[in-house]
Parts: sequence; C-alpha cells; structure tokens
Amino acid sequence: MNYALPVPELPSVAIDGLPLRFPVRRVFCIGRNYAEHAKEMGGTVDKASPMFFTKPADALVTDGADVPYPSATSDLHHEVEMVVALKAGGSDIDPADAQALVYGYAIGLDLTRRDLQAAAKAKGAPWDTAKGFDHSAPISMLVPAERAKVNGDTPIALFVNGQKCQSATLGEMVHSVPEIIAALSKLYELKAGDLIYTGTPAGVAALQRGDRFEATLGNIVSLEGRIT
Ligand code: MN
Repeated sequence: MNYALPVPELPSVAIDGLPLRFPVRRVFCIGRNYAEHAKEMGGTVDKASPMFFTKPADALVTDGADVPYPSATSDLHHEVEMVVALKAGGSDIDPADAQALVYGYAIGLDLTRRDLQAAAKAKGAPWDTAKGFDHSAPISMLVPAERAKVNGDTPIALFVNGQKCQSATLGEMVHSVPEIIAALSKLYELKAGDLIYTGTPAGVAALQRGDRFEATLGNIVSLEGRIT
C-alpha cells in the first residue's frame, strides 16, 4: 500500500519481561466505577448502566515519559486506574468468558481537564475535550495476566510528590473486570489490542507543573512520571 503521508507510528506499550511491545488499537474508559469517587463528583453509581467514554490511542504516554501540562485548562486532575489489555475480543461476551480475553494489566492515569468536564456536564455536552486530549493517558508497562496476581484485595494507589492521594482495593470497583468487558462488548465489537481504563477511586485532585507522581498496582507494577 502506498500512502499520501508518512504513516503514523502505532501506539504501543512495553511488556514486563518480554522483548515485545503490546500494539494498542483503542482506549476505552469507564466512569463512576468506585462509589466514593462518584459521590465526591456529586454523581451516583448506576449499576445497571455503566458509563463509558474513549481516548485516542495516541493520547497514551508510555515508558515513563514526561507529561506536558495540557492547554486550555487550569484544573488538570489525576485519576489513578488499573488498565486491562485485551488479547482477543468479540461482541456480546458473557462475563464468564471475559477473563480469558485479558492479556495483562497496567496502572495508568485518566488525566482530566476537570474545568472543561464541569462545563460539559452543565451543558449536557460531550466529554471529549475534557478526557481525550493529547498526553491524557499515562500508562505503565503491561504485566501478563499469568504473572499479575490481581484480585479484589489488590491495592491501587497514587502518590503525588511522595504524598498518598488516592487509595483503594480492586474489590471496591462497582463493575468488575468481567462485567466491564461484557458491557463494553454490547456497545463495540472488542478486538485484540484494546485497552480499558477501569475507573478511579476517591481522592482526585489537581496536578501542577513540576509535580511528580507514582501510581502503583499492588507490588505488580508501578508508573513514575512528572508533569512538565
Ligand atoms: Mn476515570
């Protein structure tokens, strides 16, 4: 195939212990998946109807690269989230079949222009500019599922400048990973290479230029970075 312009580089994520990278197709995110976070945002959890949005795959920030403070906001918020990577997909997936589709796990940040999100909510407008901006999805390396012992007791946490800001266990998720995959697959045909940000616990707050963050998924994987 000949293209009229240079072909963009495929977004990809490093894999712990392997000389291979995970090729990223799409980035899905679930909102309001921890009750205490939904409450701090003035919302409620809707167990029957999970709320999804997306980010462009090239919004990922990988390999510990610096995160440039974005334009058009003065209220950039951190949301620490476990990220699930799919090695296979499908439509109308049964929750009982979902776990077998998981390639591995990472920890990431769903960075949010909170001021633009509040304005969008007030107008009933889409969240794209609040959520899907450049560099809005820092992510650690992936740990393959067979080595990542993830369960309901696994803690996720975010430290900013050494201070713990967000902390929960995965068992506090409203929608479990199999439930998220099943629900998403009713809206999209999921594919190998898709990533899913699984929601954030309470404690979201603003980041400033110069802040250093460390996000951890138990002792399975961590991500250190800096806002510049
Ligand atoms: Mn989020």
